[in-house]
Amino acid sequence: MSFEPVTMYKYRCDGITTRGQCTEVLRYPDEDGEGEFYDALTSTPEISEGTKGSAEWLGWLVFGERLLCPKHVAGAEYLAEAGLVGLPFPDFQTGAHDG
Ligand SMILES: [Zn+2]
Repeated sequence: MSFEPVTMYKYRCDGITTRGQCTEVLRYPDEDGEGEFYDALTSTPEISEGTKGSAEWLGWLVFGERLLCPKHVAGAEYLAEAGLVGLPFPDFQTGAHDG
């Protein structure tokens, strides 16, 4: 018997949380579409076009070789909306939202 070392790569969200690096890992469907998910690769750490398509289908944001998980995408959308229309805090008397 002999052994061969194998390097594995995981695609992880590039977002930052109050506790440091986001730990969300990209899990993408296999090529056969059987519904099985993989979260690590043994080939190169570059993101293939197929993986990018799967990531976007799963709600991840892909820009270059960087990834943001769906939670970070939702947070960015919320911040963008708040920047445009103000924070949607309900009025403390009527409960109505501004804008
Ligand atoms: Zn994230």
